[in-house]
Amino acid sequence: MDKGVLVVVSGLSGAGKGTICKRLLEKYPDYVLSVSATSRKPRKGEENGREYFFITKEEFEEMIRDGKLLEYARYVENYYGTPREWVEQQLESGKNIILEIELQGAFQVREKIPDAVLIFILPPDMDELKRRLINRGTETMEEIEKRLERAVEEMAFIPEYDYVIVNDEVEKSVDMLHNIVRSEKEKESEEGE
Ligand code: 5GP
Repeated sequence: MDKGVLVVVSGLSGAGKGTICKRLLEKYPDYVLSVSATSRKPRKGEENGREYFFITKEEFEEMIRDGKLLEYARYVENYYGTPREWVEQQLESGKNIILEIELQGAFQVREKIPDAVLIFILPPDMDELKRRLINRGTETMEEIEKRLERAVEEMAFIPEYDYVIVNDEVEKSVDMLHNIVRSEKEKESEEGE
């Protein structure tokens, strides 16, 4: 059986990458989404083991020491990281795995797994980004400002990604993402022949 493709999806906070990944999973059966560990507190409606494994800073540091993370990063004062073992098992089973992670983590994944495909999601414009963050209503204004500052810093690294999707319509972005993965999978299996 063909191995799955490891797909790293990054994007400016509020660009809609969460919505795109969720819809991709609903629409196509051949994807699974990795659940990260984080030291951030759960938002209203988030469940442990579904959006994230919510753990303490100390527990996170223990996972780092024990080599249990494929990658990790600090983002606006919290730790976020991808559990390694689950990803390795899923890849062997032939599923495409989506890692919805920020860019420091994305580059660590590329170092470790060079076949990974890195995709960056952009909002149609920066005003839209701020509007989406405010409308989401899950962060304070101070937190939103920090996330916007971070967004500007992150933009410098966009050229390092394999693909960029401008998310002006979710369904279109989802299909674009799926087509990218399909063609990358074909490329990888041709190379393996
Ligand atoms: P949020 O707090 O909005 O859920 O996530 C903040 C940022 O952390 C987002 O850009 C998200 O993609 C990223 N993130 C989530 N999980 C991980 C992870 O496991 N590793 C890394 N490096 N970033 C993550």
